[in-house]
Order: sequence, then structure tokens, then C-alpha cells
Amino acid sequence: MTALPSWVVWRDGLRRAALVSILVRNRKRRLLPNPIHDRNSLMTTSLNADLTTDKPWQSMASRVLEGEELSADEALQILSAPDVEVLDLLHAAFRVRHRYFGRSVQLYFLMNAKSGLCPEDCSYCSQSKTSTAEIPKYNLLRRDELLAGAKAASERGAKTYCIVISARGPNEREMAAVEKIVPEIKQQYDLDVCACLGLLTVEQADRLAACGVNRVNHNLNSGEEFYGEICTTHTYQDRVDTLHAVRDAGMELCSGGIVGMGEKPRDVVDMAIQLRELRVESIPVNFLNPIEGTPLAGRGELTPNYCLKVLAMFRLVNPEREVRIAGGRELHLRSLQALGLYAANSIFVGDYLTTKGQLPEADYTMIRDLGFEVTQNTL
Ligand code: SF4
Repeated sequence: MTALPSWVVWRDGLRRAALVSILVRNRKRRLLPNPIHDRNSLMTTSLNADLTTDKPWQSMASRVLEGEELSADEALQILSAPDVEVLDLLHAAFRVRHRYFGRSVQLYFLMNAKSGLCPEDCSYCSQSKTSTAEIPKYNLLRRDELLAGAKAASERGAKTYCIVISARGPNEREMAAVEKIVPEIKQQYDLDVCACLGLLTVEQADRLAACGVNRVNHNLNSGEEFYGEICTTHTYQDRVDTLHAVRDAGMELCSGGIVGMGEKPRDVVDMAIQLRELRVESIPVNFLNPIEGTPLAGRGELTPNYCLKVLAMFRLVNPEREVRIAGGRELHLRSLQALGLYAANSIFVGDYLTTKGQLPEADYTMIRDLGFEVTQNTL
């Protein structure tokens, strides 16, 4: 007898679990006739979905696997899926994830190489000049500190070491320091290096490529229409220009965004489609951590189910690209964190720039419990 593929076993198990929970919920609903329903938000959807009819998610995944691109309206449909369809949606996303990444999970390790002191006014960012958040503020770390970070990344099984500075763009001293340290890191450790240094000129991008930087992170953060609401000191087009400079210099692109800043679902879709058009290799999806002292403090409209729909949408719109669950994972996905990896194929291990992540051991356990495995770097 041929053994069933493991994803089929997983799917059927989840469907059985979903059916039991729906039966229990339907019984409860007969006793409680007012289902939770927020008409003003796509983030909380009706529990009254019809579970007996065919849903579009599997045929959407099949079309994506045949090479078709989803339209913006279809992507929007994913974000407005009823919560009870999230498991079906994740199954559809997992079919696509499995085609390109199997059960692998890539780990990234962040090093906040220069913290605070940024002249820009990005309203989500605790390092901005407009933020009064209590965060460590320091200039570019020393060589030995950057090397120690690379060692920690390597010991934690990360594939990529991300060197991040808070800045509109790097000054000459910072550029020179990066040019010096990157070859050393790559000589000593089996790591890719991703640099996140802010806006870059064509010349700066060329210099980063020449010193061995594999990839540059520069997030679009949201859709073009919404961008002016979260930053006034530079434009969305400035960010797109930097991505073009990085591509032209021959490096890979890492670019994603932040969900939960007050944008409409359409803005999230616009960003996902723009990232597809830019052929970005790696897409970090952050869920806003509304840090006290930033203009967006106090926002809290995300639900775990909506976050899962966002991840599924990014997977189906950008099927063969790396999708990473980035900042806000622990805060917003909470007990559903593991489910996010059925759509995404990558996470940060350790802390974020100015906020804590869960312990690396908890991440390794989660990955093991899923039956997934960490990608080993083969450099
Ligand atoms: S440019 Fe970067 S570091 Fe500066 S405020 Fe914006 S997000 Fe924060």
C-alpha cells in the first residue's frame, strides 16, 4: 500500500479537528444567538459561514501552482475570508509553500547595529526622532560586537545575519565599517549577510555588493496610497528607488511591511502585489507592535486569524518567495504562531530590533513539533 504524503495526513487531521470544533461551536451558538460580528472590520468575520459548500481556496492554490498570478481582488478575498475557513486557507497556502520550500524553515538573526537617533519620522518606529519610547540608543557597534553577533547567529542555526542600523541612509563612516566587517564575517561563519542601512544611492548599493553583502533589506512597509500616513520625511518612491538600486547592483531584495498600522486590507494587498512586481526574494511580514511612546501606540486591531489570512495571502500572491513571520509574531499570533508556518517558511530567531522575541528554544520546539526542519546553510 502506498503511504499517504504527510501533508495529506496533516490536512485530514486538521479537517477532523476543525469539524469537531465547529460542531461544538454550533451547539453553543444555539444557546447564544448573537455571534461576534464586527461589521466595520475585515479582521473579525462572521462565524456563520457555510462550511458545506466548496470554497475557492483550493482552486486558487491549484491555479497558483499552475503559474497563474492572483488578481488584487482575489488577494482581497483572502483577507476577508470567514474565520472558520482559515484552516482551509492555510491548507491551500501550505500546498504552495510545500512545492517551493517543503517543510523547511529558514532562521534569521537580527543585530541592531545602531539604535535610535534616527532623523526620520516613521510613526511605527521606536527609533524615530518623534518617538519617546525608552529604548537603548547607541552609535554603530564595534567590530568585536558585530562579530559576536555573527557568532550568536551561527550558533543558533540562522542562515542569515541581518545587520540593521537606524538611519535615513548610511553615512561614510558606517559604509566603511560595513565594507570592512562583512568579508570578515563571511570568512569566519557559514552565514549570508543582509544589510539594512536605510535609503541607498546607486554608488552605495554597488559598494555593498562589492564587499560581499548578499541581500539588502528595505521594507515598503505598506501600500503606496497609505504610505504618507505613516511617514513624511521620505516617500514610498524613495523606497522603491532604493530597491531598484539594490537589484541593479546584483544583490537580492528583502522587502516587506507592517500590518496593523490603520491601513485598509487593500493597502496590504497593494504592497503584496508591488513586491511581486519587484520580484523581491524575501518578504518579512511584521505585525505592528504598538510601542509606547510612538504615534501608533495603543493600536490593537489585529486578531490571530487575520494575521494568518495575511500570511496566506502573501504566500498565494508571491508563491515561490520566502515569506517570513517577522516582528509582532508572538504578540499577535499568540497560541496560533505555529499555524503561521504553514504559509510562511521563515522566522527570526531571538529578539527584534527594540523588542523581545520568544526564546530560541521555544522556536526550535515549535518547528520540531510541526514536523518541520530548520534549513542548514550550505555556503
Ligand atoms: S528610517 Fe528606519 S530607523 Fe529611521 S525612523 Fe524610519 S524605520 Fe525607524
